[in-house]
Amino acid sequence: MPVPTEVVAIDGPSGAGKSTIAKAVAQRLGFRHLDTGAMYRAVTLRFLDEGCAPDPTGSDSASLSPRMQVALAGMQLELLPQGRVRLDGRDVTEALRTQDVESRVSAVAALSFVRAAMTRLQREVAAASPIVAEGRDMTTVVFPKAQWKVFLTASAEERARRRCEDFKARGREVAFDTVLAEIQKRDLFDSSREDAPLRHDASAMLVDSTSMTTEQVVQRILDLVRGAQQASRA
Ligand code: C5P
Repeated sequence: MPVPTEVVAIDGPSGAGKSTIAKAVAQRLGFRHLDTGAMYRAVTLRFLDEGCAPDPTGSDSASLSPRMQVALAGMQLELLPQGRVRLDGRDVTEALRTQDVESRVSAVAALSFVRAAMTRLQREVAAASPIVAEGRDMTTVVFPKAQWKVFLTASAEERARRRCEDFKARGREVAFDTVLAEIQKRDLFDSSREDAPLRHDASAMLVDSTSMTTEQVVQRILDLVRGAQQASRA
């Protein structure tokens, strides 16, 4: 197994602000940012393109599994600087945020063969350079021995409010109740699946960002990292 270099591992539910925070922390530390949600979204897009994506409940996953395995094996995923993602030679960064991908990604992420492939890739990235990795199982499964572990959360209502603002900024008007329901559905799916469920591991620092600014959250994590760096030098 490749040996990770320095890893800041951040987990948390949908819309907790992980990407914004992880990006900012990575930039200040000079680490690479690894958005593992984007990887699961890219696999989902590949399955959609190949006509073998499971329905949002995953009820047809077993029958589609052989076709999904072929599609996964043949896919070329490149994680580019600035968080851009290339799939089979095409820039799919924006395509990863569509409703179709959003509604099916949790069913795809529940598949053990998909998780095994993504975990392997994530560890390879961490072996190459220091990273800030964000997702659902960074602190528990992929990098359980990371030097710094954070569980970032916020109330479901606050997360839905932020998501609505994000959508608006990208020119999409989506009703608050629709966004809240989608978030709650994904929370439930992600935390109740058998393989690598989302959970707060006691060794990860809990940060509830409901009434914190982005800068406050970033500072809290930088304090954690720098505090531990100083302690290891003393
Ligand atoms: O973080 P983001 O919302 O982009 O993640 C999309 C989905 O990918 C999550 O709802 C979850 O189902 C899955 N995921 C995962 N494990 C990760 C990262 C994301 O299962 N490490």
